[in-house]
Amino acid sequence: MRGLMMDKPLLISSLIQHAEDYHGATEIVSRTVEGPIHTYTYAEAAKRARQLVNALVSLGVRPGDRIGTLAWNGYRHFETYYAVSGMGAVCHTINPRLFPPQISYIINHAEDTYLFVDLTFIPLLEGIRESLAKVKGVVVLTDRDHMPPSKLPNLLCYEDLVHGHSDRYEWPEFDEWTASSLCYTSGTTGNPKGVLYCHRSTVLHSFSISMPDALSLSSRDTVMPVVPMFHVNAWGLPYAAPMTGAKLVFPGAKMDGASLYELMELGGVTVSAGVPTIWAGLIRHMQDNGKRFSTLNRTIVGGSAAPRAMIETFQDEFGVELVHAWGMTETSPIGAVSRLMPRMDGLSDDEKMVVRAKQGRPIYGVRMTIADDEGKPLPRDGVAFGHLKVSGPWVCAQYYNEPPGPAHDDEGWFSTGDVATIDADGYMQITDRSKDVIKSGGEWISSIELENTAVAHPDVIEAAAIGIAHPKWDERPLLVVVRRPESGLDREALLAFFEGRIAKWWLPDDVVFVDELPHTATGKLLKTKLREQFRDYRFPGVTG
Ligand code: ADP
Repeated sequence: MRGLMMDKPLLISSLIQHAEDYHGATEIVSRTVEGPIHTYTYAEAAKRARQLVNALVSLGVRPGDRIGTLAWNGYRHFETYYAVSGMGAVCHTINPRLFPPQISYIINHAEDTYLFVDLTFIPLLEGIRESLAKVKGVVVLTDRDHMPPSKLPNLLCYEDLVHGHSDRYEWPEFDEWTASSLCYTSGTTGNPKGVLYCHRSTVLHSFSISMPDALSLSSRDTVMPVVPMFHVNAWGLPYAAPMTGAKLVFPGAKMDGASLYELMELGGVTVSAGVPTIWAGLIRHMQDNGKRFSTLNRTIVGGSAAPRAMIETFQDEFGVELVHAWGMTETSPIGAVSRLMPRMDGLSDDEKMVVRAKQGRPIYGVRMTIADDEGKPLPRDGVAFGHLKVSGPWVCAQYYNEPPGPAHDDEGWFSTGDVATIDADGYMQITDRSKDVIKSGGEWISSIELENTAVAHPDVIEAAAIGIAHPKWDERPLLVVVRRPESGLDREALLAFFEGRIAKWWLPDDVVFVDELPHTATGKLLKTKLREQFRDYRFPGVTG
């Protein structure tokens, strides 16, 4: 029997419509690329998004067209998100930190018709100009006074476009399965692959991440996504904020500790979200300058493992809860959030910290399992670790314009490429990327665990562990470390620090100090590059 409820599709336009109707006076604050801080309201954003749709229509943009964006977190990018998806076209956010040939590849693979670009990225586009033959025009996200002199073909001014059109527009109703946005993975192996989100998946993801045991967003919050809108839709926050009526603060291009702190204080930010390196920069600024937060009470960390030491510092020194979350481009991105269960209230601080450092329990909608190399499910005992597989309404079912690949199986699971444990309460803990796990004597050593242990040392800024070929054990761990320049930390002192913190046989066989480590476009350690760099490395006394 079919239910008798209204057939109202879950559309992204409903989010901005709701914010306009019921949180119209709530502010959006942005640090602009041009310099000044810009402040306006959801009501004004919604109006300008409608004007932009009329402008897009006048340019000949049609439902289904892909519109690329190369932009920081800011109000014009926000308007572009809503105008493009709201009219039924696809907002293709491009990560400017990818290598230029990869950017060309994805613009052409997505067949973007127009590009919406912050001033910062004009030189980047000029550098790949020849590969943009199919792009009809480039819209610069600025006003007439700041339009750059550039030879890019058909350069248009965003503010002229918006001002030139009426705000009279009714958001259309269409199938909620319509594609809404597109984001390519970083492509650390092979070409980047496109993950094509739809309206339904985006709205459902927004509901789920807003819930109390997830990110717990409400109209009392001021949310600052430091995670970029050019990668996995800033973890869905530009959608969840209008849904819940939370105020938004966008940091623009400035993500150093001092700028973030200043904007957090200015905007009254209560919750933020970003990768561990961002928070490491913020902590350093706060400590060096004796700063305190007046409004921030929690911050979401993910993208890479949050070291326990970082969670503790935020808690103990600044009274801010660091909430560990896990996700990936293919999961929209949030899949798990680490919150304590009520019965854990009585645990010691140390025991609580062990739980909070895990990547967390699935949010509603997401299911998880771990399996061994043969695909056999492994027990949920917090000890056995295997390949993490996930499913859910906002998990990618296949890549855009790619033949079906091994990541998706016949039982409806997506293989994440992560290796994890799941405990009896369902807390998942990432042990490694499957490519990065160190295989020693038939057993696995977690490179993440070694890295987290190393960065708990006060003189270590960053660390990476990789497997180096070994004649007896197959592989043994090498630790590559960036230390505080003035510290004088040496190999022996660092290895002594590991004692009692990890299993003896996990102890790195050697430590190498470097000035910096290579990173991916999303700020993760680039282990492929590091392995290449140390291809000829041999442990002392080991030959062959
Ligand atoms: P890319 O586009 O670089 O592949 P994603 O942003 O999709 O990157 O990253 C997804 C991967 O990031 C996950 O598969 C996982 O390995 C890692 N990751 C995300 N969150 C965490 C976390 N909290 N702890 C450890 N690793 C994480």
